[in-house]
Amino acid sequence: MKDTPNCCLCGEKVEEKVNPRDGKVYWNQGESALPVKDGRCCTTCAANIVLPYRLRAHYQQQEHH
Ligand SMILES: [Zn+2]
Repeated sequence: MKDTPNCCLCGEKVEEKVNPRDGKVYWNQGESALPVKDGRCCTTCAANIVLPYRLRAHYQQQEHH
């Protein structure tokens, strides 16, 4: 498995998701920060920054229709 990257938005290491059944990390690459940034971000930034950004972009697109 690749090294755990730092979040490209807040600089913290992204979460390592552990399978509760065997205690092994099954995902350590965080979330996509697109379209805010071309990189990986932690779940906190995904929820607080990337998701609202996507929603805003979505509504702005609709206003132009
Ligand atoms: Zn972050």
